[in-house]
Amino acid sequence: MNCPGCLKENVETYCDKCRKKLFGGRKVNHILTFSRPEFNEAKIERSERLSISGIQVKHSLKLESNELVLTEKGGEYILKPIPSGQFRNLDAVPANEHITMQMASQVFELPTAENALIFFSDMQQAYITKRFDILPNGRKLLQEDFAQVAQITEETAGKNYKYDYNYEHIAELLQRYVGAYNIEVEKYFKIILFNFLVCNGDAHIKNFSIYRNEDYKDYLLTPFYDLINTALHIPGERDTALELFKDGFMTEGYKFSTNYSRDDFYEFGNRIGIKHTRITKIFEEMTNGEDEIVKLVNKSYLNDALKTEYLDLISKRRERLLYSYSTDKET
Ligand SMILES: [Zn+2]
Repeated sequence: MNCPGCLKENVETYCDKCRKKLFGGRKVNHILTFSRPEFNEAKIERSERLSISGIQVKHSLKLESNELVLTEKGGEYILKPIPSGQFRNLDAVPANEHITMQMASQVFELPTAENALIFFSDMQQAYITKRFDILPNGRKLLQEDFAQVAQITEETAGKNYKYDYNYEHIAELLQRYVGAYNIEVEKYFKIILFNFLVCNGDAHIKNFSIYRNEDYKDYLLTPFYDLINTALHIPGERDTALELFKDGFMTEGYKFSTNYSRDDFYEFGNRIGIKHTRITKIFEEMTNGEDEIVKLVNKSYLNDALKTEYLDLISKRRERLLYSYSTDKET
């Protein structure tokens, strides 16, 4: 099989590297000791305590010797099984999140939460991620998502508060609270481009967080999490979860097509204080890596039809990232 962590070929379970990164080197099997129906029953008994807020049901796990067990307290991992609902291809949600996260880290070297696919004993897939706010010694880092940083909640900003915001405002908050802004803002710019490339239309304000680094005593962006191609599940999904600009600004290209393309992201990079040469460099990085992406997606746990659909969607987005209305419209 391909390693359900890094997708390395011809292994029996998680490869050694993944065991080290995910489980501190312990020999954890990629098959859980309980089935999905057993999990659902356990969940019903303790549903309120076990669930972490969010649309998708999530559950905490911890390691007991070499075994992952459900837990109410001291969870070190979050398990996200196949969700139920109206959208299409829901069976593929765990594999989609997994390949999207792996692409972010393996192809684009974006910092991401450690993650893998895991299987219930009836072989149903789930996605597992290791909490990055808990240190090996058990201490919890001080962490806030950007809704908390911006001090907005459903009560103060309405039902749609996670989406009634924009990426430029988040960058302003980043500048206010993060000393190493010049470094962190490039990661932030990269993830915005990445989300566009992979059709992640759900990168809302709570999907970005900062935490206090114990060594530097400064706030930094946390590793990225919840990266998924939402277009595989929601037809007609929006291009970006939030608008780029805080003031409703529109480039000529946007006015013409009402779609974001190169000019919009350039303007965005400019506004958040990234030098022109660095914007160009980051654009190059984010529109390259095509061969690596194809290889990795083909090793993923998506079915063949979804692999093809995913790669087609990326190609279309890449074209849009390369297209500049201001310079290409005449040609
Ligand atoms: Zn691996």
